Amino acid sequence: MLLIASAPPAVQAGEQLALPDIGNPSGNVLTPADEQRLGRAFMRSIRNTMPVIQDPLLSAYIQSLGEQLASANEDAIGRFEFFLINSAQVNAFAGPGGHIGVYSGLITTTESESELASVIAHEIAHVSQKHLVRTYDAVSSMSLPAAAVAIAAVVIGAATNNPDIGVAAATGVQAGMMQREINFTRSHEEEADSIGIRTLAAAGFDPTAMPVFFSRMGKASRLYDNGTLPEFLRTHPVTSNRIADAYGRADAFPYKQRRDSLVYHLARERLRVMAFNEPSEGIEFYSKALDDGRYRNEEAHNYGYTLVLIAARKYTQARKIIDSLLSNRPDQIEYIVAKAELEKLSGQPTLGVGLLKQGLGEHPGNYPLSIYYAQALLDIGRPKEVKQILEQQLTGRPDDALLYKLLAQASGDAGDKTQGHQYLAEYYYHTGALNSAVIQLEIALKDRDLGYYESARMAARLKEIRAEKSDLEARNR
Ligand SMILES: [Zn+2]
Repeated sequence: MLLIASAPPAVQAGEQLALPDIGNPSGNVLTPADEQRLGRAFMRSIRNTMPVIQDPLLSAYIQSLGEQLASANEDAIGRFEFFLINSAQVNAFAGPGGHIGVYSGLITTTESESELASVIAHEIAHVSQKHLVRTYDAVSSMSLPAAAVAIAAVVIGAATNNPDIGVAAATGVQAGMMQREINFTRSHEEEADSIGIRTLAAAGFDPTAMPVFFSRMGKASRLYDNGTLPEFLRTHPVTSNRIADAYGRADAFPYKQRRDSLVYHLARERLRVMAFNEPSEGIEFYSKALDDGRYRNEEAHNYGYTLVLIAARKYTQARKIIDSLLSNRPDQIEYIVAKAELEKLSGQPTLGVGLLKQGLGEHPGNYPLSIYYAQALLDIGRPKEVKQILEQQLTGRPDDALLYKLLAQASGDAGDKTQGHQYLAEYYYHTGALNSAVIQLEIALKDRDLGYYESARMAARLKEIRAEKSDLEARNR
């Protein structure tokens, strides 16, 4: 079944082939390949509706922490993708295909990396134990893109505490029905806690961090009235029973004190800096905290201070601090990137390019260094070298919207306008902006110098995106 019976067929027969439905109403479980496709469509929908953070350093951190945890959960097979949502909410969610969203507010609220890891380990367990299967059943009669939008809308609705958001409008399904399907049962929550704690211990984190965090959140939740309760508490109620259970489970593991990684602290400061309205606000915060000795990690505070000093164009002061940080840790990617940024803004961009190139030589294929190096090369007008670097990254991250955006710029700067439009189309597609993707491909197809195969390939892609677009519009009515 491609479309639900009551919906008028909106796509032409020939185009339906491009839109496999995600399962069938008899409740067959998705194949791993179908779930991957659903996951990628889910991600496009999330990018279209949520402030997904594109910062390469923060993305690399959450991905690396998530992978550490996923590899310690023996049932977690396949690739997991972790991403950050820019929001002060204390929250995380799991979608299809191992896509796990973490709100920046969760990172800044945790008091240790083990606390952050405990929530991520819990979400990984929802995926590894296939708790989303009932959700797939609920949308199994829909085409894949529509199902992805429906799941994303419900996840966002739950996350923003507004169950009506988008669901009915975007998909034509009854919001209440979907909501019931996606809310995990109590037994799922218990299982996710229990497996999450085991994962924490296996990955070398402190397993008691989960009940400690729950308990603190439980106390904080008394400050909210029910309507503004953070989603993690609303869909994951922290009862005294649940906290006691989690303590009981954690006690089964030997006590493990764990030092937070430096990168955890650096990520927290990076997020703090992003939240300042004015660099001057940040300068006041950091200079005061450093003077008073009020910080959890002095080195990370100095890093945050450097970032706000650079933003405020106080380059001499910023240079002093970043040089001292780099002299202790010449290999620290965050510091290399900050120093390169400082060189660029203070009028010495080629020095910055050199630093990033050297860093990349020591960390071959590193994602943030590749992105910043590519950007730095674009800034000084060397687009041709950029394409190779980014295309190499693309082989491992075919759904990374930021890579397409930079590739579009590199192609355009190098004089290949048609390829620029193609990459821009992919950028829009991966951010869920299908209309803009269609327009870009239409422009690209007007190029008279296109070869036959190139032109046919592009036309096929255009047809695919158009079919997806009209399928979604049919449900939007
Ligand atoms: Zn849960």
